[in-house]
Amino acid sequence: MNDAERPNPPSTSQEEGGTFEDLPLHPKIRQGIRELGYRSPTPIQRRTIPDAVGGRDLIGTAQTGTGKTAAFLLPILERLLDQPTGRILALALTPTRELAIQAEDFLHKLGRHTRLRGAAVYGGVGMGDQERALRGGAEIIVATPGRLLDHMSRGYVRFQDVRIVVLDEADRMLDMGFLPDVRRILSELPRQRQTMLFSATMPPEVVRLAKDFLVDPKTVQVGPTTAAAVGVSHLALPVPAHLKTDLLVELLHDETMTSVLVFVRTKHRADRVARQLEHSGVPASIIHGDRSQGQRIRALEGFREGRSRILVATDIAARGIDVEGVSHVVNYDVPHEADIYIHRVGRTARAKKLGDAFTLVAPEEEEDFLRIEQLIGFTIRRATIPGFTYNRAAPERREMFRGPRGGGRGPPRGRGRGGPPPRDRSGRRPSSGRRRPDASPGRDRRPTW
Ligand code: AMP
Repeated sequence: MNDAERPNPPSTSQEEGGTFEDLPLHPKIRQGIRELGYRSPTPIQRRTIPDAVGGRDLIGTAQTGTGKTAAFLLPILERLLDQPTGRILALALTPTRELAIQAEDFLHKLGRHTRLRGAAVYGGVGMGDQERALRGGAEIIVATPGRLLDHMSRGYVRFQDVRIVVLDEADRMLDMGFLPDVRRILSELPRQRQTMLFSATMPPEVVRLAKDFLVDPKTVQVGPTTAAAVGVSHLALPVPAHLKTDLLVELLHDETMTSVLVFVRTKHRADRVARQLEHSGVPASIIHGDRSQGQRIRALEGFREGRSRILVATDIAARGIDVEGVSHVVNYDVPHEADIYIHRVGRTARAKKLGDAFTLVAPEEEEDFLRIEQLIGFTIRRATIPGFTYNRAAPERREMFRGPRGGGRGPPRGRGRGGPPPRDRSGRRPSSGRRRPDASPGRDRRPTW
């Protein structure tokens, strides 16, 4: 689940605060914005575009998914409007071909009423078209560093007219070892120019880069910059409250979920969810404040060493959890406090690994969830699980989410009242939750959006 590859649709939480009319953008550009369906600027756009249009250097700390591509494309279009010179005037460097392709696509759409031309330059495809673009077919180039250097080494790339440079996802370029390449490219560019740098975090190398190549930059920060949120793919799974456990079981069919931390709000719910998972053939350990020290240590050790694949935890108990290989965090409940969300998802994607954070969102939790999106500064994609029946009625006797005596008794959770038992409970219970006997391959169970 790579954020970079999954554009968000325009969304309500991105629409707060101001309109594009407030921003210094030409009507031709506004028309492109309208046609793309953006109704109002995202926070990073609102806070960077005026300075960027004014030509100021800029450091934006923001993640993919916050609308920062348009935050740098729109000022580029505005500043270069009606200067289709056939020479390279702006250059944006991105770490991956997907981001380059996506940015060029946005550029094409946003700038369709201007005469400016853009081109994406990235590896893995022929050089010919890119060479033509670099030789005079485009004013705005979005490129990955390695491929751009290949072109530069052939001698036909002319950078002397470049006025605007963007370093997108600078910390990811660092991770991918591109920083020396980026420095080489920057050193070939005219000194008189505007430079904008975007990064989800500011590790020392990026700070140095900024120092070396930016002049008196304005710094704008949107959303969390803690390592907690970096590298995490966030996904919301809307589901009625009474189907949460069933959905969780369904999710856990995915074998790529190798080490899953399930967060619930209360100790009682932790016990109940773990019990329900157990009934469905998915063994889970529990950690919460009412467990003895011995139990807690054993649960944590089992999880850390991979003996138990699933650990159901409350927030308090999770504070001390620092498990390297957590592949997924599942928020069974939406936390009431938005910053708890950041803390929870910070349990995955530790040590710069990628991690997925799924949140099961019942209709009554939407408001809390919106607050989380506001805090992190971007909209979390929503998804449904293929094959899961979302419209089953709540069984009357099993009041899942009311009071402490709701769910512990009665038959194990199946697929609806009186329906067939879960597929993996035909007689014997699997000894490990890693695999349900007739589970489809993980790929087929992936959420769709
Ligand atoms: P980005 O962070 O640039 O990858 O953008 C994430 C997604 O948000 C993309 O699908 C954009 O098309 C979309 N987007 C960007 N700006 C806006 C906006 N002002 N309103 C709605 N959607 C937007």
